[in-house]
Amino acid sequence: MRSLATAVSPAATLAALLLAALLLAGCAVPIVSESELESESGKQFQEMRAQMPASTDVRTRAYINCVSSAIVQQLEKPYVDEDWDVEVFESEDINAFAMPGGRIGVFTGLLAVAENQEQLAAVIGHEVAHVTQQHSLKRVNREMTTRAGVIAGTAVLGGGYGVGDVLSMGAQIGLSLPFSRANEVEADTVGLNYMAAAGFNPAESIQLWKNMGRKTKLGPPQFLSTHPSGDNRIQELIQQLPEALKIYNAAQAAGRRPACQK
Ligand SMILES: [Zn+2]
Repeated sequence: MRSLATAVSPAATLAALLLAALLLAGCAVPIVSESELESESGKQFQEMRAQMPASTDVRTRAYINCVSSAIVQQLEKPYVDEDWDVEVFESEDINAFAMPGGRIGVFTGLLAVAENQEQLAAVIGHEVAHVTQQHSLKRVNREMTTRAGVIAGTAVLGGGYGVGDVLSMGAQIGLSLPFSRANEVEADTVGLNYMAAAGFNPAESIQLWKNMGRKTKLGPPQFLSTHPSGDNRIQELIQQLPEALKIYNAAQAAGRRPACQK
């Protein structure tokens, strides 16, 4: 039988000890606030705009704005009150993201996989759910704690770290690094409800993920590198469908029937 001591990984024990040492030394672990992360995300969003061409196709921009707008109108406070900034990037990449502070980015390549307004709503709903469930914020603060622990161990060597470094890493994470499996399940569930509440048929989310799994001429979609598809995700969505369909039917009855034209 394993003792309690050996059941805990040595790395976790070390991190806990280092963190305790840091706290004893009187250094508080800095916590990143939602507004700090929002302002850092704003900078990164502007950098992306400076580096990547925006789509000049008026119809495509209007279409993506139409779907995004229908989704964000269904968010909880304070997110529903934010002035959501939507950018359409001209790129073959099959990708999309949302950032804290009310920002959505969609790459035109996504439209090769998201074949109709419902499938596009499935992606945008999922990405926005990462923001409303504060997945980046939680990750940044986990990272701050971990680094604080490491720094506690190396402080005598002159190690230091900046809040800005961790912040910028955390904000980039939304696009470049995958969230945890638990975060993905949560974003799927919450996102499915957002699309349904906006009046998009949630059943289309299943077709979206099937499309994502198809090979494209450019190789697998970039979105898949951070969003492993496969049967698990689809099975879980199928289980969530009955609840989402109730929300969808209520939205339709209330007159929420988006007609975003590609
Ligand atoms: Zn995700």
